[in-house]
Amino acid sequence: MESVFQNETVREILMRYRRIWAIGHAQSVLGWDMEVNMPREGILERSVAQGELSVLSQEFLLKPEFIELVEKAKGIEDLNEYERGVVRVLDRNIRISRSFPPEFLREMSEVTSQATKAWEEAKRSDDYSKFEPWLDRIIDLAKRAADYLGYEDEPYDALLDLFEEGLRTKEVERMFDKLEKELKPLLEKIMEEGKVPQSHPLEKETYEQAQMEKVNRWILEKFGFPLGVRSRLDVSAHPFTTEFGIRDVRITTRYEGYDFRMTVLSTVHEFGHALYELQQDERFMFSPIVGGVSLGIHESQSRFWENIVGRSREFAGLIYPTLRENLPFMSKYTPEDVYLYFNMVRPDFIRTEADVVTYNFHILLRFKLERMMLNEGVKARDLPELWNDEMENLLGIRPKTYREGILQDIHWAHGTVGYFPTYSIGTLLSAQLYYHMKRDLNVEELISEGNFGPIKDWLRERIHRHGSIYPPKELLQRAIGEELNPDYFIRWVKERYL
Ligand code: MG
Repeated sequence: MESVFQNETVREILMRYRRIWAIGHAQSVLGWDMEVNMPREGILERSVAQGELSVLSQEFLLKPEFIELVEKAKGIEDLNEYERGVVRVLDRNIRISRSFPPEFLREMSEVTSQATKAWEEAKRSDDYSKFEPWLDRIIDLAKRAADYLGYEDEPYDALLDLFEEGLRTKEVERMFDKLEKELKPLLEKIMEEGKVPQSHPLEKETYEQAQMEKVNRWILEKFGFPLGVRSRLDVSAHPFTTEFGIRDVRITTRYEGYDFRMTVLSTVHEFGHALYELQQDERFMFSPIVGGVSLGIHESQSRFWENIVGRSREFAGLIYPTLRENLPFMSKYTPEDVYLYFNMVRPDFIRTEADVVTYNFHILLRFKLERMMLNEGVKARDLPELWNDEMENLLGIRPKTYREGILQDIHWAHGTVGYFPTYSIGTLLSAQLYYHMKRDLNVEELISEGNFGPIKDWLRERIHRHGSIYPPKELLQRAIGEELNPDYFIRWVKERYL
């Protein structure tokens, strides 16, 4: 493999960067092990080990000689696009790392670890007062983080950019305004027309984990997932994907024991994340441009497989025989039942269980609230009421407990503010990619044949192989010649559900 990195300065940067890469590699293994294998009480030592490794990695990144090299490389004019990618990613990481004083980071980590405990207790007892003071501290920390990072228009911009490079609040607002305006009447119409059900008897059917695992593995094999060669499927409380590198990408799922749609679609979702990592250009190995470029683009890949492929009628037909073989209750149902069951639409309280149509409203609600916290001085005391009002406005339902309202997500307890919009970006973008893919491929026919190669190649060519060379917006321009446009998703919802 000939190196794509020729410039001497960049080569020196990459030689030194290997250490940072190796620490990241080790941290991923520790993180994966924590979720999949670690006994409960290992948490104390594991978090200290992880914290120390983060400090070590930061030390290497912020070494004056290293920063000098990156600065020098910024001034070189004839770098190729790979080398420019390396410099852009490192420059951004250094800028973000240098923004926060060490006392602030220490405070952040102490507050969020206590806030997470308080959140768990508050959620268990459905007692918001236990979390409220911590949420005020988190809001304060988020504002200070935004100030340290700097912004032009509003504090929320600074936090958003951490998760989606170059994205601004105004753009998110425009996207959600459009969605709210168009999707609300659409949702009403979908409920009225009843082309897809609000509930299905398959939700109640129970299964054996071992049988269900066979189904998940069958699907992954159909997708050509390199199980045992470059990947694994394991079980964890919350399904996730982690990449140790390009050749070792692991996913997890979970088995509730009923409502098998959840385990199947979450496995398919994580496969989408994993494929992005697996299909990168191997010449990027050990460099900072390895790995998906942003959360929104990453989520577009997982949602593509989950929504476009996994919820299609053709996919229901494709997996029906293996469902029938492994799940005894399946003999009472047809492939069409599976399709309808995978596509139920029903306004409900919990984001993670929401269907494709109502999901974006859950994100919109959080976006509105986060923005109020940062820009309008809204306090934790006012948030439950604001949450419930907005839920009623968007979905016509009002939570009766904190658990099904403001206490449902862990994100704020973790200090993560500005993250939620990336979920919607992924969903919208997955539909946009689909319509572009349809110009080149007969997507439905390929799914019904179980012939996923051309779909994977299409995604590799346009998105995956580029790793993080280009910032998200530029990647999209190169891939499809457009910027993010919610119209495609609205069209997809109309075609699918009306
Ligand atoms: Mg995801």
